[in-house]
Amino acid sequence: MAQLIADRKEIDFILYELLDAAQLFKHEKFKGLSKKMVDMIISEARKLSIKEILPTLAQSDKDGVRFEKGQVTVPQSLHRARKAVRDAELTSTMEDPEWGGQGLPHLVSVALGEYVVGANYSLSGYTHMGHGTGKMIELFGTDLLKELFLENLYTAKWSGTMVLTEPEAGSDVGALTTTAKKNADGTYNITGNKIFITAGDHDLAENIIHPVLARIEGAPEGSAGISIFIVPKFRVNKDKTIGELNDVQCVGIEKKMGMHGSATCSLSFGANGKCKGVLLGRENKGLQIMFHMMNEARLSVGFQGSSAASLAYLYALDYARQRIQGKDLAGFKDPNAKSIPIIKHPDVRRMLTWMKAHVDGMRSLVFYVSACFDRKKTSTTKADRKLAGDMIDLLTPVVKAYCSEKGFDVCVEAIQVYGGYGFTSEFPVEQLARDVKIASIYEGTNGIQAMDFLGRKLGMEKGAVFMNFLNEINKVIAAAKEKESLALLAHALSKQVESLGATAMIIGQAAMSEKYATAFANAHPFLDVTGDVTIGWMHLWRALTATTALEKNPKQKDRIFYEGIITTARFYIETVLPVTFGKMKAVQGLCDAALIMEDQAFG
Ligand SMILES: Cc1cc2nc3c(=O)[nH]c(=O)nc-3n(C[C@H](O)[C@H](O)[C@H](O)COP(=O)(O)OP(=O)(O)OC[C@H]3O[C@@H](n4cnc5c(N)ncnc54)[C@H](O)[C@@H]3O)c2cc1C
Repeated sequence: MAQLIADRKEIDFILYELLDAAQLFKHEKFKGLSKKMVDMIISEARKLSIKEILPTLAQSDKDGVRFEKGQVTVPQSLHRARKAVRDAELTSTMEDPEWGGQGLPHLVSVALGEYVVGANYSLSGYTHMGHGTGKMIELFGTDLLKELFLENLYTAKWSGTMVLTEPEAGSDVGALTTTAKKNADGTYNITGNKIFITAGDHDLAENIIHPVLARIEGAPEGSAGISIFIVPKFRVNKDKTIGELNDVQCVGIEKKMGMHGSATCSLSFGANGKCKGVLLGRENKGLQIMFHMMNEARLSVGFQGSSAASLAYLYALDYARQRIQGKDLAGFKDPNAKSIPIIKHPDVRRMLTWMKAHVDGMRSLVFYVSACFDRKKTSTTKADRKLAGDMIDLLTPVVKAYCSEKGFDVCVEAIQVYGGYGFTSEFPVEQLARDVKIASIYEGTNGIQAMDFLGRKLGMEKGAVFMNFLNEINKVIAAAKEKESLALLAHALSKQVESLGATAMIIGQAAMSEKYATAFANAHPFLDVTGDVTIGWMHLWRALTATTALEKNPKQKDRIFYEGIITTARFYIETVLPVTFGKMKAVQGLCDAALIMEDQAFG
């Protein structure tokens, strides 16, 4: 059968050879776990994904979500898949078993996510969003809130949302107008209209728990006056049973270019003056609390990009092996020459290698950041725990923006590999491109991510965190230079790192000068080149690991797999990164043309 979902060998390579997941199982926090056990859990998740989730991808796109008489109905295929994910206890795998989690490392959870979430991202709104809502309650809620909500959210018995956006408050969340008025019993009356709320209403769970951003009457304007409230669709009684409806109504769903299985809802809170919410954390600290969830969600959205790219690549690869078209270049003048599978054509091989390079690089990056979450908790030295935390903070906007954009680009390239058939809905890749486009828009548009990267992340500790990041890349370069076969690639990457350092210096200084607007006009290209070099780092690291494995055992059964890793790294460093060099020169030039253009000159 064709391999249409990430190969275990690739997942195992990243887990155990690149990131040494086995080391984690020795830590007190994960005692009781073993490689054998984890392998079994991942294998089961992969089987479940192939049998129960992947088939829902096309079906849920075709059936779509319906909104009739105020009720949201989700495709039947997602009902079955959601039950399967819940039955397998795969909804909050890294959380404490006391609250319904599995207590697994972050790194193992992301490997499970590759199968359970990546196979149909629309489904994850109903299976995994409750985790984010629950996490905020775990971190900032009272004991009563935890008791009432946590287990039901982590196990996805109830689902969760994140409720920020309003018609006039999208990127500028601080402009929201939803209000909260304190009642005598300490609860708040919530009134307002929210739009674009993923899984805001549906018929999959018996309750939906909304974390809602609103402004308490009299609170300051802007971001400083925002609080966060837990607002259940149905009120929850003290014994955790479901109470009466809480005056939260879905008033419509969006018709969208993709993610047709995902309900994107307009919600009205308190239209009848009866919507009650409970304050989470302290007054006016809503944005800081929501950011805990947003950062997790941003990494998840980057992962949406990389996992969609992986699916698109594997579909295109399968098609390229089967589709017979055209003659081999060597025999194109021979009228009797047989037609060949398109995978044999050099240009198709170029497209496939380009896709593979981005898929493998992005997956390695997403897994690396996940491993940093574990390192932050388990590393034996304080310095390493800090470094891991810094890498998470620095790289979150890069993962979100870069992987969502390159994920889309890979899906578009998959359409190209299919030729005309790729453009039809008979084949799956056009859906993947439609579905993944949203990843560069929600959870903070990529423009906002780029501003965060330049405005906040680059300047962390006066640039020391960014320098430490370059240092981490340089460590891999130094080790790769020791291997004769990798010395040239290592040298090429080191030139890129030097150039990235120089680019960061120029744009960073400009951002703090009177040229700040010009700097921010170049923020997105700066994030883009940082992403390119980061993926180059991943590739050199992968090639180093594969070379070491081959040196240990040149005749091993996985020889072709390891050699493929090295060849993919060569492709990336020799064909993608030279272009990055040019892109960095452009950023360094701090072009202000987009800024000085008169508004009328746009046409
Ligand atoms: C399918 C879908 C699901 C969603 N799910 C949720 C959800 O579950 N919960 C939720 O709260 N929201 C959700 N959203 C909303 C989403 O997060 C917003 O659409 C997004 O934040 C952008 O806001 P906006 O659409 O108002 O665009 P705008 O903010 O109007 O942005 C338009 C353009 O202007 C740019 N821009 C805006 N401000 C600036 C600035 N200061 N500097 C530079 N550029 C700027 C943006 O980058 C963008 O390119 C969802 C949206 C969709 C389509």
